[in-house]
Amino acid sequence: MPLVTSEKMLLKAREGCWALGAFNAENMEMIQAIIKAAEELNAPVIIQTTPGTLKYGSLDLYLANVSALAKNSPVPVAIHLDHGDTFALAAQALRKGYTSIMIDGSKYPLDENISLTESVVKFCKPCNVPVEGELGKVGGKEDGMSSDGAGYTDPAEAALFVEKTGVSSLAVGVGTAHGVYAKTPVLKVELICVLKNTVSIPLVLHGASGLSDDVVKDCIRRGICKVNFATELRIAYTEAVKDWLSKNPSTIDPKKFGNAAREAVSKKVMERMKICGCDGKAPLVL
Ligand SMILES: [Zn+2]
Repeated sequence: MPLVTSEKMLLKAREGCWALGAFNAENMEMIQAIIKAAEELNAPVIIQTTPGTLKYGSLDLYLANVSALAKNSPVPVAIHLDHGDTFALAAQALRKGYTSIMIDGSKYPLDENISLTESVVKFCKPCNVPVEGELGKVGGKEDGMSSDGAGYTDPAEAALFVEKTGVSSLAVGVGTAHGVYAKTPVLKVELICVLKNTVSIPLVLHGASGLSDDVVKDCIRRGICKVNFATELRIAYTEAVKDWLSKNPSTIDPKKFGNAAREAVSKKVMERMKICGCDGKAPLVL
């Protein structure tokens, strides 16, 4: 089917207390692996690319790959700009055909974050493409950005941010970080409940790679409707390639280790989809 927006997926997830898995893809094999996993579990799915990934490839290239696979797939697929960092990139992604946009102004003071996010929401509205904003900081490093992770989302600011910007979903800072955790993070899970009761839109958890299954499930129970996974998929992909090459050092065919990497990524995506509870939920979004 044609690409869908993330709006209905997120609203259904909020209604049913489950979460969408949103998976970062770096290349064609990862996109294939994510969609195959979604098909096997009959799950709606969000595939996302960061600005750094888009510099490696391009909006056109990732969109073409995702669209081509989604077209022949029975499950709903959305393509999302993850951590869009400028109005120009968000606008370009929308014009090209991305069906879900994040604008991340969390590094700016509140008033600047509000005005940047509001401008992107206004731009996307005529196309009915939902926009994810971010308030409070997710720690760690992703895509060249880094943060100390000290920025827990303030509920009063969240209420103001949502009211002023009109965003469709909100990425919140509750103690998670991007990348690999050196030690177990201390999450303020009770803050998720407060935020859920403060704003009426779906909440998004970034930096979920490396969190235990129980912690992710607890966050979802408390109100998270979209969980982003990037680092884990990179690890699964790269370890599979390394493993395959170490066992078959004379290989010269990228398809060989590409197959191994695809299988590893699919397996990881399916594991995480089951934790999110989005397996079997495709019919709800159609
Ligand atoms: Zn993120």
